[in-house]
Amino acid sequence: MRNLYLTFIILFSYTMNSQEQNTDKVKEKYQPLPFGSIKPSGWIKTQMQKDIHGFVGNLDKLVPDLINDPIYGSGRLHKDSKVKDLGNNKEGDAAGSEQYKWWNSETQSNWWDGYTRNVILLNDKEGLKKVEKYIQEVLKTQDEDGYIGIYDKDLRYRFNSENGELWSKATMHRGLLAYYEYSKDKKLWNAIVKAVDNVMTHYPIGKSSPFSSGTAFNGGVSHGLTFTDVLDKMYQITGDTKYTDYALFLYQDFSKTYQSEKDVQLTNILNPNYKLQSHGVHTYEHLRPLIVAAYASDNIELQKALQIYIQRIENATTLTGGAIGDEWIAERTAHSTHTGYEYCSLHELLDSYTVLFQKQGNPKTAEAIETIFYNAAQGSRNPNHSCIAYLKTDNSYEMNGTKNGEIEPNRKQTRYKYSPVHQDVAVCCSPNAGRITPYFIEKSWLKENESVLVNVLLMPNIVETKVQNHNIKIETITEYPYQNKFTFKIANPSRASFTIKIRKPFWALDMITKEKYTVENDFLVFNRPFAKEDAIEIEFSAKVLIKEDLNNEKYFSYGALLYAKPIEAIELKGKSYLANFDDLTYKPTDDNRFEFVEENQATFQNGQISIRAKNKTTNQIENIVLIPFGRTILRQVSF
Ligand SMILES: [Zn+2]
Repeated sequence: MRNLYLTFIILFSYTMNSQEQNTDKVKEKYQPLPFGSIKPSGWIKTQMQKDIHGFVGNLDKLVPDLINDPIYGSGRLHKDSKVKDLGNNKEGDAAGSEQYKWWNSETQSNWWDGYTRNVILLNDKEGLKKVEKYIQEVLKTQDEDGYIGIYDKDLRYRFNSENGELWSKATMHRGLLAYYEYSKDKKLWNAIVKAVDNVMTHYPIGKSSPFSSGTAFNGGVSHGLTFTDVLDKMYQITGDTKYTDYALFLYQDFSKTYQSEKDVQLTNILNPNYKLQSHGVHTYEHLRPLIVAAYASDNIELQKALQIYIQRIENATTLTGGAIGDEWIAERTAHSTHTGYEYCSLHELLDSYTVLFQKQGNPKTAEAIETIFYNAAQGSRNPNHSCIAYLKTDNSYEMNGTKNGEIEPNRKQTRYKYSPVHQDVAVCCSPNAGRITPYFIEKSWLKENESVLVNVLLMPNIVETKVQNHNIKIETITEYPYQNKFTFKIANPSRASFTIKIRKPFWALDMITKEKYTVENDFLVFNRPFAKEDAIEIEFSAKVLIKEDLNNEKYFSYGALLYAKPIEAIELKGKSYLANFDDLTYKPTDDNRFEFVEENQATFQNGQISIRAKNKTTNQIENIVLIPFGRTILRQVSF
């Protein structure tokens, strides 16, 4: 009887809400292609293959206890579940230990998401078999009513404190949806629809408060706001606005409830005196729910909030694209030496900007995406070994665990080093370092409409799609961003008629091509009949640019890349894993620092920039050579 009554209430509130919500969705500028439509080639493919043979492909062997914890299945959490030992030091985690209960769901699902996407894009047969087995295992954990998640019946959807209900679902469903778009597996799709419906039934729109969780730290609850990633993708696939309406409800509920990570709450955004202060990763991933909410309805206040929030993030970001994430923003502005960025925050901000560009279409956003990927993110990978920095700064004078030698009271800092896992802190950055490349590639080509293909992010890749139901394949052959020359090789077997738009970067002085084209909103428009086999060749010319940051420090760039003076160092091995994975620290053998001089005579030649700069120790002007930032370990990049 009670159940029948509840069902009635839920049905009734649904009917009410479909009338109440009835929002006018704002038109999105571009449409994404299904995951897997764009495959890497050239150097980016080579780097992904190294990752699959390295830390991305082996994380399940590096931390088997974390990856194999059956947290979504036989090991679901219940009222008496104990806090887990995750092998971390717990230093500086004043936030409390309740979060350790759900941590493995994030580690596993983010890792599987990245792994799945990598093996799809590389067409790695062994990896695909492993993923298929994983998908089948996930499907077996789904309850009759659709529930996929980490909580037993005594806990699910009934919380008044920190929990990972929505977050564990967000991380898992992002990966499931990518695999669905690749496989078109109907059974998987039905399972996802049922699981998302299960959430919307138990947290009914307008009649529940999923983000109410008391007044203590609730990092897992607030990560759960990114469940809007799943809803946004469901909308992209189905066109059904019930998903974006629900995303708007989630953002509104988040805004009006107590949150420990509160930067994106509407009243804080609209308060002109408020400064970003939350955990960086949260702040940057929360840009996506705000975007989705702002496009879910024609609410002017939300569009205004979006502009303010983007501006605040820009002030927290260095010129390489490194947004403060070491780990709380704490009202600071970005600094080349003193503000560090977490690998997770690089991925989250990049992903948020790809969603922003897809909906809003501002070329400035595309520029920011390339800046993050080609500079800060490449510059946080170890160029010689398969491992990444958890935290990194633009100027990196040592990587001994601490931030350029700074003493941090109240915690033993170990994040400024290279590791394939970083288990002593948290296994969050490694999985996200496996996600960033597939996410970057996924948004490189978008559709403006059925006959306009738009190349947003420049890189070597191959896109296969349909225009007006005709198959099209375009291979971008390039060394970009290390060179600025492109051949777009077009296969158009049924001679379809379509338009190609290619983004012209802000730094491009000129464009060299034999093609006829027009320019529209910083995009080059090629609108001519394409033969069965065709090609477009273009080259952008560049020059050395001197950029100034918020602290008047100068950076040298050429094309999409920033250039840094590498600093010689001694490499020291820390903990070793399996056969050939190690934690690595770097101790400088050279402590010369250089100062900017106006007569720097900066010149670009053979992939390097030569400049004149003042040695701060000797006060002498010297010639120094700068190399791409992304290929350095210790370095000076601002002068
Ligand atoms: Zn992390």
